[in-house]
Amino acid sequence: MTVVIDSHCHLDSKEFDADRDEVIDRALAAGVKNMVAIGTGDGPPDLEAGIRLAEKYPAFYATAGVHPHDAAKASEETFKRLAGLLKHEKVVALGEIGLDYHYDFSPREVQRAVFIEQMRIAADARKPIVIHTREAWDDTLALLREHWRGGGIMHCFSGGPDEARQALELGFHLSFGGIVTFPKALNVQEAARIAPADRILIETDAPYLAPVPKRGKRNEPAYVIETAKKLAELRGESFESIAAATTSNFRRLCLGYTL
Ligand SMILES: [Zn+2]
Ligand SMILES: [Zn+2]
Repeated sequence: MTVVIDSHCHLDSKEFDADRDEVIDRALAAGVKNMVAIGTGDGPPDLEAGIRLAEKYPAFYATAGVHPHDAAKASEETFKRLAGLLKHEKVVALGEIGLDYHYDFSPREVQRAVFIEQMRIAADARKPIVIHTREAWDDTLALLREHWRGGGIMHCFSGGPDEARQALELGFHLSFGGIVTFPKALNVQEAARIAPADRILIETDAPYLAPVPKRGKRNEPAYVIETAKKLAELRGESFESIAAATTSNFRRLCLGYTL
């Protein structure tokens, strides 16, 4: 069977408490060989939401990090513990980190400081970073240019060709989620057409942003197949070639990573 990897999901979410095992079984049955459990959870002091899943389920890798929403909850103690957790054998990246100026749940200057500090921790640990950016492209790209030398993932890529080119120049992979399947997301679709085959990834961000034709429902990792199909259509490639490219890109970036 053709396998794919969901490089970003939040299966720790309460939305899965009633049927988490079934959701994971459906993903495996659909060919989703691995999933990355993003470990931001409800924010500090808990940093292990992803690690708990990865320790329980063999198909999971994990991340750890402080989401920009939770930046105001981070302390020196948080950063010290985060550095230690990056040594866990199933933690493949630090994230999701970045800036969210849409919700502004944490003050912007705190978001920026916590983002910068986590780039420092990731560089020390030689791990890639997973970026969340919303209504904050300029500041996100500027801070990456100033503070980061390495690779990473632009999660749930929601920019157009211009943002795509800048992120690619910085060495990032573009991870496409449900948004790329939305009929009005023409900018994101154009970015998906121009991205080099060795820089694309696919994700669900479950339980959020389910792809067409599941749009509006709770998202789950099995639906990453729909996003792969859409990428294939947009790029004029086969589903199998998108699956193979995104899987090998994930493995190269997150499992064999060297700065
Ligand atoms: Zn996000
Ligand atoms: Zn996320």
